[in-house]
Amino acid sequence: MNILNSDILNIDVNQKTINSVIYFNGVGIHSGKAVNMKLIPAQENFGIIFKRVDLEKDNLIKVDVNNIEDSRFCSKLKNNKGVFVSTIEHLLATLHALDINNLLIEINSSELPAMDGSSNEFTNKINEIGIKIQKIPKKIVKIQKTISVKLGERFIKVDPSASLSFTVKINYPNTLIGKDKYCYTHNKHNFLNEICYARTFCMSKDVTKLRAYGYGLGGNLNNAIVVDENKLLNSSGLRCKQEFVKHKVLDCVGDFYMCGLPIIGKFHASEPGHELNNKLLKKIFKNKDNFKIEESNSFQPYFPMQNNILTNINVA
Ligand SMILES: [Zn+2]
Repeated sequence: MNILNSDILNIDVNQKTINSVIYFNGVGIHSGKAVNMKLIPAQENFGIIFKRVDLEKDNLIKVDVNNIEDSRFCSKLKNNKGVFVSTIEHLLATLHALDINNLLIEINSSELPAMDGSSNEFTNKINEIGIKIQKIPKKIVKIQKTISVKLGERFIKVDPSASLSFTVKINYPNTLIGKDKYCYTHNKHNFLNEICYARTFCMSKDVTKLRAYGYGLGGNLNNAIVVDENKLLNSSGLRCKQEFVKHKVLDCVGDFYMCGLPIIGKFHASEPGHELNNKLLKKIFKNKDNFKIEESNSFQPYFPMQNNILTNINVA
């Protein structure tokens, strides 16, 4: 893989789209429905917009904090006519990492294809097709204050910072997953090397419950890690050490792009989930003193050159 310095440092200041159309097809992990999706390059200042081509009207849903719809098991956006698109987090994580700012996403279902349960296939295909640097500077969101959200024992907070980073802790009673912690500094290089391939996971005891509520209908061992008591049901094992906590980081990278602009802040989370992430993002945007939107050419990035491996402690 040929990685340029600009990829490592995320110092490109201009907006970006993809070079040409990309097709994906698969099954929605919750709906179980077959879905076709088409990523189409878009002009400057277009933003990222989903178009539900299975519907004739009111079918545009912009990636925007005002369109975030509360959801527990996946991330969901809904327009003001009630039309929604869900399980967007793994594609948004890829777009956040590859710094894609303008894109039209045509989809013929309400849920994105699960692919392999990670961001791997989205990332590989976009990298293959290539990224087009556009003529206008991109905008970024800079956190100005410490803001936090707590839900029982779980919490997430963000502090102002010169770069985007996530420190995520998980704590599962199950000893196979157990306690773990991961410190991740966000840029394309670290995303490709550490995060993008980490798959979603669930407990086999929860599968029946989820399905009773209409979730997980398309889930299987090809698009999720399933843990039964303290045993992994996937015969191929884990893809890497710390895959569970890395997937939680991946979800955060996707969820915090739901405002439609790259975000700069230092996040700390204990047992995060989509619900908590969505609440924090909405709270940030509720008060104009919490953030500043800047053109990226006025932004001096912090150069996170340290190797993340050195900063990670496996507490499991
Ligand atoms: Zn996920």
